[in-house]
Amino acid sequence: SNDTNTVKKAQQIRSQSKSTIFDKILAKQAPADIIYEDDLCMAFNDIHPQAPVHFLVIPKKKIPMLEKASKSDSKILGKLLLVAKELGRSRAPNGFRLVINNGRHSCQSVYYLHIHVIGGRQLKWPPT
Ligand code: 5GP
Repeated sequence: SNDTNTVKKAQQIRSQSKSTIFDKILAKQAPADIIYEDDLCMAFNDIHPQAPVHFLVIPKKKIPMLEKASKSDSKILGKLLLVAKELGRSRAPNGFRLVINNGRHSCQSVYYLHIHVIGGRQLKWPPT
């Protein structure tokens, strides 16, 4: 029904605008070890590193998860990859891995799009 659609839409908008810890880090309302920032994105070290190098790159424009990105986000998505590879290359010169978790099965825990950059040791494949 129309009412159901209205409620669904409202829930969708609420969930997309729900504040996450990364919103707070971006607003400098929560502490983080920020390693890079420009007009479009920010990078900071992961609080529970899975390797000697483990940082996250996030867009300043909020996108809750990769599947919510659209064609109009092409520029920012490209920018995230370029920043991730520049920082990865300098911090983990022997190689690094990029990971984007999307949704429950991937174990996404923070619903603010982020690229993990992991390195500084020999990684295994597959990541399981
Ligand atoms: P996800 O599982 O959503 O792909 O990854 C979320 C990542 O954010 C995890 O690796 C987790 O350790 C990290 N994280 C969660 N809370 C914080 C925080 O408050 N500060 C920082 N720097 N990293 C966080």
